[in-house]
Amino acid sequence: MKIDALNEWLPLPAPGTPLVIAGPCSAESEEQVLRTAHALKEISAVKVFRAGIWKPRTRPNNFEGLGELALPWLAKVKKETGLLTTTEVATAKHVELCLKAGIDILWIGARTTANPFSVQEIADALKGVDIPVMVKNPINADLQLWIGALERMNQAGISKLVAIHRGFSVAEKLEFRNDPLWRIPMELKVKFPELPLLCDPSHITGKRELVQKVCQKAMDLDMNGLIIETHPDPDKAWSDASQQVTPEKLLNIISSLSLKREYSQDKNYTEELNDLREQIDRLDSELIHTLKLRQQVVEKIAMAKINQNITALQKGRFEELMKDRLVTAEKMGLSLDFIKEIFDSIHEQSVQIQTDLFEKNNK
Ligand code: PEP
Ligand code: MN
Repeated sequence: MKIDALNEWLPLPAPGTPLVIAGPCSAESEEQVLRTAHALKEISAVKVFRAGIWKPRTRPNNFEGLGELALPWLAKVKKETGLLTTTEVATAKHVELCLKAGIDILWIGARTTANPFSVQEIADALKGVDIPVMVKNPINADLQLWIGALERMNQAGISKLVAIHRGFSVAEKLEFRNDPLWRIPMELKVKFPELPLLCDPSHITGKRELVQKVCQKAMDLDMNGLIIETHPDPDKAWSDASQQVTPEKLLNIISSLSLKREYSQDKNYTEELNDLREQIDRLDSELIHTLKLRQQVVEKIAMAKINQNITALQKGRFEELMKDRLVTAEKMGLSLDFIKEIFDSIHEQSVQIQTDLFEKNNK
């Protein structure tokens, strides 16, 4: 993908200040929109004003946004505060209306990203238009679908692209509204290092008390900014009331964040890190060596079983093995989930090696 750097098209805050997009979940009235925007203009981190106009709701008969009548309010925000504006689009018609109204940045919502037909419809409507587009992750934990939506935009000629991590719907009841599954946005970051990645702690948490914690985590993971739902009177908000924060609270959150750097020139730090990394390299090499030795023993076991006409798998044995490994792991203070995952994988591989050998010897 050909992607423009964020600083080529967005005025970024001073170093040490995170980039923040803020504004209400939904535009509710001209007064609410302008009051929020004027309060946000005073916060130097905030460069873009968000407000939903077409709201995708899970069930009907909820507030579905005020639609195009709210578009001129966003134009007024830009004129009065200088903030750039952004709203969600889900159809070609939305795109057309936003372009006409001079909206600066479009975003594609999580439900839309999950539907390639809708994403393609938006991409087609954007052919030849130079406007930044932010793509939220799909509601389901499918990285390919997220990448696919970004690629559809990119192939339509959109190079000012941003990915937004807003968490994933899962069946279990969680502390958060959506499961962040941080490894998914991290995988995206590794695959497309040049793609700006923002975090949406409001939709991840669903609860305003938890927003700060997720903001800090996003900063610790070197994400490029935050999109935070902000409302002058959150409890009275027409949508997502429990997760929105006031502009005052937003300022507290932003001020509380400690920003990390990816690199440092400090000599002691560099020496220590190099030394520790050498240790890690050595340990990893020992791990691989041990796995090789283990594999050789597995092969001997397979040959012994073949000679006696015994099946590759003895169920009780694996259960015992796992129990024993978990007891040891617990004593050593290792995460049981982690060790279980590793031994599940080791066991799977060991069964595979045995069945391969069985197959060869059956011929
Ligand atoms: C929103 O940002 O208000 C929204 C509807 O988000 P999502 O698509 O992430 O649910
Ligand atoms: Mn919302």
